[in-house]
Amino acid sequence: MTESAKFTKYAGDPVAQSTEDPAMQLVGTFVPDWVTLPAELGGGRRTVQGHAVVRCPCGQRHAVQELDLGANLFVAECSFKGFLWYRRQPQEENG
Ligand SMILES: [Zn+2]
Repeated sequence: MTESAKFTKYAGDPVAQSTEDPAMQLVGTFVPDWVTLPAELGGGRRTVQGHAVVRCPCGQRHAVQELDLGANLFVAECSFKGFLWYRRQPQEENG
């Protein structure tokens, strides 16, 4: 377990920003080994199963890095709203 891989932000926390260019959001540059769930989701750690850059679920037209936490639970780092935690039904392509 590497200390540098810790990822302890919670929903509503400000997103990480570049120190060189504060206007530039750090999207898709950091994938932790695990994340800490907010208390409303039960807390504890979830191992990151995978990641992808997707259209942000907040509704704004921008891309975010989404982390797959398993069990249909995802978190995306929104540059407008901070961390968004959400569940997604798998394979909803027939509806
Ligand atoms: Zn967003």
